[in-house]
Formats: sequence, C-alpha cells, structure tokens
Amino acid sequence: MSEPLLDGKTAVITGASSGNGRSMARTFAEEGADIVVADIRDEPREGGTPTHELVPDETDADAAFVECDVTNRSDLVDAVDAAEEFGGIDVMVNNAGIFRSEDFTEVSEDEFDQLMDINVKGTFFGAQIAGERMAANGGGSIINLSSVAGLSGSPDHVTYCTSKGAVRLLTYAVAAALGPDGVRTNAIHPGLIETAMTTEDVPIIGTDAGDQYLQGIPSRRWGQPDDVADAALFLASDLASYVNGESLVVDGGMSNSQ
Ligand code: NAP
Repeated sequence: MSEPLLDGKTAVITGASSGNGRSMARTFAEEGADIVVADIRDEPREGGTPTHELVPDETDADAAFVECDVTNRSDLVDAVDAAEEFGGIDVMVNNAGIFRSEDFTEVSEDEFDQLMDINVKGTFFGAQIAGERMAANGGGSIINLSSVAGLSGSPDHVTYCTSKGAVRLLTYAVAAALGPDGVRTNAIHPGLIETAMTTEDVPIIGTDAGDQYLQGIPSRRWGQPDDVADAALFLASDLASYVNGESLVVDGGMSNSQ
C-alpha cells in the first residue's frame, strides 16, 4: 500500500465546520493529516457532528477546534499557533467566505466592508501568518478559495466577484513572495458546489432557475464538497510540489463552455 498523501502533516482550515472546508478536513485526515478547524462556530451548517469530533471518529488523525473569525488577525494567529500541538503548520487553507446576491447600485459601504473583510482580508492575513511560519519551518502549502466568480464578472454578485478576483491575484503575488522559501501558494476556483451557500444563502441549487443553469454545465451535475476537497488534497500534497501560483478550476467545465 502506498503512503498516505499527507502523512505526518498538519493542516489549518478556516471555515472547516461546514461545506467545502468540512469535506477538506475529512479528506486530509483520511490521508494522514492532523487538522485545526478554524471557524466562528463548531456546528456544521448542514447539521451533524462537529468536524473536529468527526475527524478522530473516522480516522487515525487528531483534530482541534479554534474559535476564529478570519476578520481578526489575532484569531488567525491563534489558529496557526494551535497547529503547534500537532508539530506545526504544513498546510493552510484560506477557505472561510461568504456569498450574496445584490443590486450593485444599492450595495452599502458596510456590506462591501463585511464581504471584503472575510473573503479578502481573512485570506490575506491567513496567508501572511501561515506563510511566515511555514517559511521558518522549511516550507508548506497555502490554498486560497477563490471561485469561478474570480475569473469573470456576474451582474448580481459584483462585490463577491471583486473579492474573489482579489483572492486570485493575491495568490499569484504571495506565490512570488514566498516561493523562494519553499512555500507554494495556489487558488481553487469552484463552480457551483452543493453547500448551504448555494442552497440557502443564494438559493440556486434546487430551484427552477438552477435546473436550467445545470444544462450549461458540461458535466451535468452540481459540484460536491468532495470535488473541491480532492483538488485541495492534490495542491496540499507533494504531488503538486512544482505547482505554484496556479488557479485550479473545479467547475465541471462550466467556465470554458458556452
Ligand atoms: P459554507 O457552507 O457557508 O461554509 C463556510 C464556513 O465558513 C461556515 O462554517 C461559516 O460559518 C464559516 N465562516 C463564515 N464567516 C467566517 C468568518 N468570518 N471566520 C471564520 N469562519 C467563517 O460555504 P462553502 O460553500 O463551503 O464555501 C467555502 C468557500 O468556498 C468560500 O470561500 C466560498 O466563497 C468558496 N466557494 C464556494 C462555492 C459554492 O458553490 N459553494 C463556489 C465557489 C467558491 P457559519 O456557519 O457561522 O456561517
């Protein structure tokens, strides 16, 4: 049997109580990584056992929960510090994010700041804090969650597109800054993934409009959190040791088809 892909590694994943982050935590743990779940609360949005309890139930890996609001730099420091209990951080996934529909002309300053603070500022400082620690330890992998909305514009999600475009560019810049220290930094651009974000916050999946939308996705199915987790596993692992400053699109072919 081959070695688990993340044997002996430790991953900090923001927003890992729910959705894509929860799936990444479970997938990474199956491949041998200990996990720090860094989220504002430990209850999964979809229900069920908190991620940090599920991981040791399902796998041989350990897990810890750190209450972390990614808009507070000091909370991110606490999350990265918590990885020391497991030997120090090797993988940072800046996954926490919010999505909403809006009328561009009515977006308030507070609404803009809230979304940018979580999606951009949280990712920026997550990369800064984890990257510095990894560089001191000889290297690591940073994975930032962008979106297909970070590749092209959408009229109902201007703030979100702005934030995810920023995540894409900050990924390239951080890769350039930290690459010489052995830290790889990459972005994942999911399409429509079936989580509370797309069934509740901005209901697309499960609606009539969504059914029509599905016909434009070459793979003819909604993405699942495990699809995103498998892409993240690749980027976290040594399989991607020469992949740096890259955008990995996980959308069933949606953004490259008409
Ligand atoms: P989700 O199911 O809503 O999960 C997001 C998690 O992040 C939740 O546990 C949420 O906590 C937490 N969170 C929210 N604000 C936070 C903060 N300030 N600090 C720490 N944690 C916070 O969303 P998801 O679909 O898994 O999305 C995860 C990432 O993938 C996001 O960056 C999103 O933009 C990106 N993405 C998703 C899709 C998609 O179709 N789902 C597509 C493209 C990109 P609460 O439970 O308290 O809200």
